[in-house]
Formats: sequence, C-alpha cells, structure tokens
Amino acid sequence: MSQLRLNLLTGRWVTVVPNRAKRSTDFAPRAQQVETDTTSECPFCPGSSRPDTPLFEQMGANGEWKMRVVANRYPAFEGDESLAVRNLGPVHVMAEASGTHEVFVFSPEHTVRLDMFSDDKIAELMSALKSRFAAHANTPNIRYTQAIVNHGREAGASLAHPHGQLLGLPFVPGEILEEERAFERFKGGCIVCTTVEAEADSERFVLDNEHAVAVCPFWSSSPFELLIMPKAHHQHLTDASDEALTAVGIAIRDSLAHLVKTLGDIAFNLVFHTAPSHHEGMYHWHVHLWPKLTTAAGFERGTGVMINIVSPETAAAELRSATVQA
Ligand SMILES: [Zn+2]
Ligand SMILES: [Zn+2]
Ligand SMILES: [Zn+2]
Repeated sequence: MSQLRLNLLTGRWVTVVPNRAKRSTDFAPRAQQVETDTTSECPFCPGSSRPDTPLFEQMGANGEWKMRVVANRYPAFEGDESLAVRNLGPVHVMAEASGTHEVFVFSPEHTVRLDMFSDDKIAELMSALKSRFAAHANTPNIRYTQAIVNHGREAGASLAHPHGQLLGLPFVPGEILEEERAFERFKGGCIVCTTVEAEADSERFVLDNEHAVAVCPFWSSSPFELLIMPKAHHQHLTDASDEALTAVGIAIRDSLAHLVKTLGDIAFNLVFHTAPSHHEGMYHWHVHLWPKLTTAAGFERGTGVMINIVSPETAAAELRSATVQA
C-alpha cells in the first residue's frame, strides 16, 4: 500500500510506493536501458496473457475492443478510505494513498500514435475520458482526477503502446491549488478566457478550430511548451459539450502532429487540468503539453525558476510553419 507523506517544507504531499523499484539495480544507468516491449510481449496488445478486467471498454464491429480502461498493476493510489491524516512523529505527517490508478489503452494497435488518430477516434477517446472523470466524481473518497499521457522513455513511459493514465486522488494536489489561487487573484476575469482572446492572432498562436485553441504560452517554462484551451468557459472537463471535448482532442492531436513534423517523434507529457470535483470557485479546464527536450537541473529544482532556452514566439513560428497532412 502506498503512503502519502507531507513535505513540511513545501506543504505538498509525496507518494511513496514501496514495491515499484525492488532493487537498486532497477535504476540502471540510462545507457544500459533498452526498449524491451515488442508487440508480442506487450500487455496492452489484444491477445496478451495478462488477465486484466476492464473498468471501461468500448467494443467495435466484430466484438473486438476499440479502447479500454484497466486497473494499473502497480497502483500509486488504491483503496476507498477518505484521507485520514496521522502524525507519526514531530515531522512525520502521513496518510494512506487511497484512490484509484487506471491505465487507459487508447486502441488495440501498438504502433498508431495519438497524432495519427482520426477525428472519429478522437471523439470516442474524449467521450471515454469524460465517462471516467464522471465516474471518479461520483466516488466519495476521490477529490481530484489527474489524466496524463506520458510518451517516450524520457517522459516516463515504460511501455510503447499508446496509453494514458487516470489517477483519482484523495486530496487536491498543490499544482491545482496554486492554479485555483491564481484564478482567484486575477483581476481581468478568467485567465484562460483572457488568454484565448489575447493570443488569437499573436505570435504565440499555433492552431485553432471551432471550439479550441493551442498556443505556446507567454510564460512557457520549457521549449515548445503548449497550452490547449477550450474556448467555452467551463470549470470541469465534464461540463464541456461533446463538440467542445472532441475539438480539444483534435487540437491536442494536431499540436502533436505539428510537433512531430517539426522535431520528430519526441517524448512528451500531456496533462489535463480541471477543477476538483466539488469546486465552486473560478477555474477553466485546460491541457498542458510539455515536450521533453531538456532536463530540469539543480537551479530549477532549487528555485522553482525554470530556464527556457527557446522563446515561445520562436517555437510557435516553427510549429505554425510545419505542414501537416489533414
Ligand atoms: Zn501493444
Ligand atoms: Zn474562462
Ligand atoms: Zn494548468
């Protein structure tokens, strides 16, 4: 069972998952790591010997699955208890890491990346995502759901098969609390609505469609960072219309296609940010896309101040000029 431990210096929770790295040799030097997951032994490919029971499954024409959500084999969060904080010592504040940790397998195909999906596939994917968010919101101990996609080893993906993860947490994480405070602090209405308007024809604009827009934000902290925003103001992803959800999915796919065209099949982290389930204050859900091109080092970790070596204006210009097949 994982534990939450409170970093008293930052006020942020840390999750300690004791059984994931059993031996210190699990941290082999990078040069020795090899990509071992071929289609034949991939646990997410159809026909895998792994007997995962789906929490969500969409079937296709011939009774074959099109996408599925299964429990993570190595959950960082697990169990139904609500957050019970205990003091084990003078500086030892902990709680059980209850919640849920799911793997979202996007398709049975091992090699078809997110940037290659059709509009219909994206619509199905976003609809499935919405159902999982709704299911989490109706689970009493889950306070916040984090949906992520890690692509590539450098971005933390341990399997090549296109998939995402859904983590239902028993607390609202620090990053979201900070964004909530920023929304409250901002005097000009909604930060995201204002960004959509301000960047519509700026040099940081990358692409848009009827309901969504992608920009390299003015405050990009790393090269080619993207912010993908629904144009309609909704706090929760689950409040968005099906059209808006699909449009955001398509803007994500197109942003990835522009990145691939510009930089190749790079590693990235894709992160959905939405208001906590029972939040009533100001918030506007959105998506961060962080290509993994550089590594945060001592200065960044020590200060929280990121050094970005590519300006968002340069990045956006390069992404705009990439021609992508429709
Ligand atoms: Zn596979
Ligand atoms: Zn807004
Ligand atoms: Zn955010």
